[in-house]
Amino acid sequence: PYDVLVVGGGPAGAAAAIYAARKGIRTGVVAERFGGQVADTMAIENFISMKATDGPKLVAGLEQHVLDYDVDLMKTQKAVRLEKKEFVEIELENGAILKSKTVILATGARWREMNVPGEQEYRGKGVAYCPHCDGPLFKGKKTAVIGGGNSGIEAAIDLAGIVEHVTVLEFGDTLRADAVLVKKANSLPNITIIKNAMTTEVIGDGQRVIGLKYTDRLTDESHLVDVAGIFVQIGLVPNSEFLKDTLELTNRGEIVINAHGQTSIPGVFAAGDVTTTPYKQIIISMGGGATAALGAFDYLIRN
Ligand code: FAD
Repeated sequence: PYDVLVVGGGPAGAAAAIYAARKGIRTGVVAERFGGQVADTMAIENFISMKATDGPKLVAGLEQHVLDYDVDLMKTQKAVRLEKKEFVEIELENGAILKSKTVILATGARWREMNVPGEQEYRGKGVAYCPHCDGPLFKGKKTAVIGGGNSGIEAAIDLAGIVEHVTVLEFGDTLRADAVLVKKANSLPNITIIKNAMTTEVIGDGQRVIGLKYTDRLTDESHLVDVAGIFVQIGLVPNSEFLKDTLELTNRGEIVINAHGQTSIPGVFAAGDVTTTPYKQIIISMGGGATAALGAFDYLIRN
């Protein structure tokens, strides 16, 4: 068996693997797609010590760093089941079963998409999902935020300090965000909130986003909003479906961990966007991966 088996090859999984391997223990990584969300990211300007980088470069760096150590890297392999027996067992989609004394779950998350025409075409060309990451790219420009929950209204308040104007489009007839956030958003002169708005299309000029269309659900009229950026804030979905009923998840599907990265199953740790850790960012996921690996090592020397 492995001493530490990491499931996931994003920043959290890579950090966990490096920290584990540096203890000289038997370490494996299973990743459906090495690099994770970072592989889909163009500009990265908040990875501290690097003024600017991009996703493919950072992914290449992660892989080289992992392979610098004696780590079994199993790419394009998907975990479909976890079971704790004498060892922790991870079953892969191809039927293989991997055994390990400890497992670190770092399967990340995915942004819920609008599924409207233009969204995929203009992803990274005006369609964005992370205001902390991409907000500054729209400095002085008009932007829209899709979704009036906490993350949407937080994004609008954040963006209002950077961009020229923010239009928030909420599908329902009320905002689901906390009252204090709504009050703050309403107090800012450059935020407009439109309710009962169903976004129907992302409009671009072939290169970049130039606007969006929405239908007013009360009048059925279609409207055009002229924006350079669209932040989609309709939910971040943890990749934890395969863990349902095996360990403690929140009602949103996040794996519940303690300060050492330990889950509700002894010997099973978790890190990064799939967990309850607040603020989903590369640097935070890496820190979580390091914590989980040290937590797993601590567990190994005590058991
Ligand atoms: P992920 O990166 O999601 O990686 C998860 C890994 O697990 C992948 O390897 C995946 O293939 C694998 N996996 C999932 N399920 C399974 C399974 N069942 N079996 C095996 N493997 C599995 N953050 C920043 O700090 N700065 C930015 O500029 C920035 N820009 C972003 C831009 C975009 C478009 C997106 C989508 C995100 C951005 N983020 C940014 C957020 C950042 O990418 C995430 O916080 C970070 O990647 C989370 O790392 P993670 O390792 O927890 O998960």
